[in-house]
Amino acid sequence: MPDKNVDKPAAIVVGGGPAGLTAAISLAEGGVDTTLVGLRAAKADNRTTALLAGSVAALETLGVWPSCVEKAAPLRTMRIVDDTGRLWRAPEVRFTADEIGLGAFGHNIENRHLIDALAERARNLSTLSIVEDEAVAVSSSASTAVVNLKSGNVLHGQIVVGADGRHSLCRTAAGIATDERRYPQAAMTLCLSHSRPHHDTSTEFHTPGGPFTLVPLPGNRSSLVWVLNPNAAHELAGLDDLALADAIEKASHSILGKSQVEPSRGVFPLTVSIARHFAGERIALVGEAAHVLPPIGAQGLNLGLRDAATIAELVVTAHRTGRDVGEADVMSRYDRMRRADVGSRTIAIDLLNRSLLSDLLPVQGARGLGLYMLDRIGPLRRAVMREGVAPTENQPRLMRGEAL
Ligand SMILES: Cc1cc2nc3c(=O)[nH]c(=O)nc-3n(C[C@H](O)[C@H](O)[C@H](O)COP(=O)(O)OP(=O)(O)OC[C@H]3O[C@@H](n4cnc5c(N)ncnc54)[C@H](O)[C@@H]3O)c2cc1C
Repeated sequence: MPDKNVDKPAAIVVGGGPAGLTAAISLAEGGVDTTLVGLRAAKADNRTTALLAGSVAALETLGVWPSCVEKAAPLRTMRIVDDTGRLWRAPEVRFTADEIGLGAFGHNIENRHLIDALAERARNLSTLSIVEDEAVAVSSSASTAVVNLKSGNVLHGQIVVGADGRHSLCRTAAGIATDERRYPQAAMTLCLSHSRPHHDTSTEFHTPGGPFTLVPLPGNRSSLVWVLNPNAAHELAGLDDLALADAIEKASHSILGKSQVEPSRGVFPLTVSIARHFAGERIALVGEAAHVLPPIGAQGLNLGLRDAATIAELVVTAHRTGRDVGEADVMSRYDRMRRADVGSRTIAIDLLNRSLLSDLLPVQGARGLGLYMLDRIGPLRRAVMREGVAPTENQPRLMRGEAL
């Protein structure tokens, strides 16, 4: 059947979530003719994202941050409180951004505000076309990549950036399998207002069911990610506002005083799912299409934004030197560059989460000792803080505040 419409952008990004929008903006800002295929989300995302300093620098460089800044709260201090009540209890550990020369580790923002700011910037770029449609088939060959849309239109490009989330069609089309593990936990999420100030401090209570984390939002508001067993998460999410606010006050030892929960609660099963390769023939995966991590340690989307910045940097460089932007060298370099960053963070999150769930005394002892060492040994604490905020190697240029 002949194509109803044949367009030839150099890059096609599939998926208009935060990772896809960032990839599309970065490519277009770098002068690459780009088409973004995405649908508006069916329901609003009630989550928030703690954007670490490198992500904020990238959004600043891309001209997105000015629309976010009023709606984001700085994270200047991070506290970890052992609330396991176990024999081996660790001391409270407090990380402050000024210890590593930063004003803030990052900023927490509601996803809906972040997506609005990205979409506004995307609409204002002349090298970026936005197609509100769904990709129904993706294929690639040695010479081209093809995306078939639900409308019947067909796009041809040199590269497809698959930013189509955890059930990625692009990943399947590239023949890339995932390694997946489910934890016996779920995350209950909501936003709340409270009577006491948070002092720009996020507090993570380590409980036997998983972390209970309060992260500041502007004013006397915070977001909560409460990790616990799935039945308990659904039960909590089903409570009326007053009963839920009471449960939160109890679990948080009243550190924020009386709280009032805001409408909209989410429950997310905890899984880790990592693609075996981050790129195939002319198809590169970014964000949750490449890796789904548990919401512990605020790493998921920060990794997704680093993916977007990395593929854009490689593609823009190839474009400027007149090369085919989907050539095998670009794809294999992208895969190599993202592997260590994603791998190390997946292992760290997994170890931390398992150490909370474990009933084994030696495991609990090791976790307690680790936190004790972090509390007492300044250079170790600072090294962990620096690595937590950004990888020491292979930081993409956008994360260093440099335009592509
Ligand atoms: C409870 C919770 C808290 C979190 N907190 C943090 C945090 O503090 N910091 C952090 O860094 N990360 C956090 N994360 C992770 C973060 O939310 C995700 O990494 C991020 O939302 C994924 O963005 P994405 O753009 O990759 O995917 P998505 O947001 O899933 O976007 C994918 C997009 O692709 C579209 N799409 C799918 N298929 C097609 C198709 N065939 N055609 C066209 N479009 C398609 C979808 O409609 C969607 O718009 C958290 C996650 C959870 C669950």
